[in-house]
Amino acid sequence: MRVIVVGAGAAGSLVVFHLARLLAADERTDALEVVVIDPVDQVAGPAFGTTDPAHLLNVPASGMSVDPDERFDFVDWCRSEGLVAGEQAHYFFAPRAQWARYLRSRLAEACERAGDRLSVRHLRDAATTVTAVGDGVRVETAGGTVVDGDRLVLATGLPGVGDGWAPCDLSEQPRYIADPWLPDALEPVLADDGDVLVVGTGLTMVDVAISLLKSGDDRRVEAISRGGRLPRRHADTYLGEVVPDTSTWGDNLDEIRAAVATHVARIERLLGNWRPGVDGVRYRIAELWRRLDETDRRAFVRDLAGDWGVRRHRMPPSSGALIDEARRTGRLVVRSGRITRVDAVPGGLVVATGEDERTYAWIVNCTGPQTDLRRLGNPVLDSMFDAGLATTDPLGLGLVTDDGRVLDAAGRPGPIWTLGSLRRGELWESTAIPEIRTQAEELAASLIGDT
Ligand SMILES: Cc1cc2nc3c(=O)[nH]c(=O)nc-3n(C[C@H](O)[C@H](O)[C@H](O)COP(=O)(O)OP(=O)(O)OC[C@H]3O[C@@H](n4cnc5c(N)ncnc54)[C@H](O)[C@@H]3O)c2cc1C
Repeated sequence: MRVIVVGAGAAGSLVVFHLARLLAADERTDALEVVVIDPVDQVAGPAFGTTDPAHLLNVPASGMSVDPDERFDFVDWCRSEGLVAGEQAHYFFAPRAQWARYLRSRLAEACERAGDRLSVRHLRDAATTVTAVGDGVRVETAGGTVVDGDRLVLATGLPGVGDGWAPCDLSEQPRYIADPWLPDALEPVLADDGDVLVVGTGLTMVDVAISLLKSGDDRRVEAISRGGRLPRRHADTYLGEVVPDTSTWGDNLDEIRAAVATHVARIERLLGNWRPGVDGVRYRIAELWRRLDETDRRAFVRDLAGDWGVRRHRMPPSSGALIDEARRTGRLVVRSGRITRVDAVPGGLVVATGEDERTYAWIVNCTGPQTDLRRLGNPVLDSMFDAGLATTDPLGLGLVTDDGRVLDAAGRPGPIWTLGSLRRGELWESTAIPEIRTQAEELAASLIGDT
């Protein structure tokens, strides 16, 4: 059987890892050929492609093992690599580049163990179209290669940034960095000490601001977003999670929102901290999300997702300390506002937010991805929508699937599976490794089982 995996980020790589593990564990399973399609040189994805050691994981090491059943595998790897010692390792926020190394080494070991029953080939190209051919699929690439397969895993993730906020087309502006996670994208900004406007005030801004501020003592960074909300930070020590019993939490947004607030307030009263309450709710999010109808989901995305996100997706304590210090000294300013105009002038960009106008040497885009998959502009998804091979939920948040197996426009399961952020529409919390690794394990079993 040939499996095509489009996307060699964390999700696609974890699928290959789990396929390899299954093959190594059960010799009765048929041999497998995997073709991974992604233009990148190295697997792991843009989030973990950063080489700046100050860019840390925002999940503690104990949540980042490739195998959900081996909770402390990444902790042990960090210890064996000398990144951290002793008990501290459990609540350690490793550099993201180290996690990429860990993923690659575990992937290589798993493939080695599977021996010649597994062949994995990385085709460095972008997939452009997917069509159905008999019971299988055909993927065509930008470079003109055609790959036929029995099964397809769509692991294209979401780009880390979108530009829906921009009042005009900035793509041709040399002083505009559209995506800081592209290799070397920040180099020209780091080489200069001019003031920078960062658009977005989330976790990507935190990383970019940390890199920029350490690159020059005189540099000032301003960060702007509609709400001007910064992510909260993780506690200094591990506090655990209190998973609530949600059976009486109702089935609409008002009731569930009230129940979440009561739960978090109760945990804060009992433990002196709200975080174990929020982290416990995370385990129930998919089930709570399923209870909401389309109107409630739309209202959640519009009004509440931002507040939930800053509490749930937190920055490591050490990053929080750097951000606090930069704000205290005035080198980092975080404000709310909506950009209404951007004009290029010699040596910079003038940015208007209503009546206010300021000039910056650079603008770095750190906003979250476009939320609607239908407007993402990824050709491979568009080709599937056009051919009726996939559809989205009414909000366009994710593909319609049966437990990860993509349903076509007529609601029938076909030869395509997906995971990660492309399943946000069904699960909401589906973008980070703790969720993706479990989906990858289940997807691998489902792929091999469905022959
Ligand atoms: C800055 C940042 C930091 C993060 N930190 C953490 C963290 O610490 N812990 C955590 O759990 N999560 C973190 N996340 C969340 C993170 O997105 C996920 O953990 C994970 O990286 C998602 O993996 P993915 O494979 O789904 O998507 P991606 O990593 O985005 O990978 C998708 C891949 O698909 C490829 N692709 C897309 N379209 C095509 C196409 N048409 N043809 C071929 N290839 C294609 C891309 O080139 C890319 O390599 C972070 C996210 C960001 C943006």
